Amino acid sequence: MTEQRGTDLKQLQKLDMRIAAARQRIADFDPRLAESEEPALRLESELGTTRTRLQELKLEERRIELSAEEKRTRRKKLDERLGSVRNLREEAAVTAELEMVKRALQNDEQEMLALIDQLRKMDERFAELEASYKEASERVGPRRDTLLAERAEAQNELEALRAERARFVGSMNTAELKIYDAIRAGGRQVAVADLTEDGACGHCFGMIPLQLRNEIRHGRGLNRCEACGVILTAPTLETAAPSPTGGQGA
Ligand SMILES: [Zn+2]
Repeated sequence: MTEQRGTDLKQLQKLDMRIAAARQRIADFDPRLAESEEPALRLESELGTTRTRLQELKLEERRIELSAEEKRTRRKKLDERLGSVRNLREEAAVTAELEMVKRALQNDEQEMLALIDQLRKMDERFAELEASYKEASERVGPRRDTLLAERAEAQNELEALRAERARFVGSMNTAELKIYDAIRAGGRQVAVADLTEDGACGHCFGMIPLQLRNEIRHGRGLNRCEACGVILTAPTLETAAPSPTGGQGA
């Protein structure tokens, strides 16, 4: 009956460690979920930037088009005026202006060619990005669903473990449970440790006084390590079952 005490505490600690592990597993899903959306989000942002740039280029194209159109009109008018000049001075002035307009028009046309090339490349880039984005978004859904299903499963496991714990502590000594919970309330994982064979605390390895060792080995009372505060228990002889006489050694 006294032996049961240490066993209960150790079992409870095992259960609590499984609960802690299950909680960690659930928490680990958050970065994985964020990661599953990351490629699609990145492509979406790049797609937005490219779309804006494309719009800017098209506006620029329109601006040059209008500017060139205006210059062609002017060239035409100047050509007509050249046919009806009244003297040489006027002819020289019109010719000079005509030359200037022609040069400006040439500039516009060159700029236009460069712009058309840039637009073509940007259009291609946009189409590529759009395809990649579509592909990435199609992957996000199923990946996300899988992760959410796995997380729900982990949550169920945690609930089951919590229910198991509730049932388990229901049959435990309440005074012991209080001490155990108080030790763990400080955020410590280990509240129970076995006494080692040479009489040290199994958690901090500080030596335990002889008198106390005997009490622990016989399961009398609830003994704690003075150094680290864990509850000390007698080692459970898990592999010693076939030899109940246990007279080996001394
Ligand atoms: Zn200790």
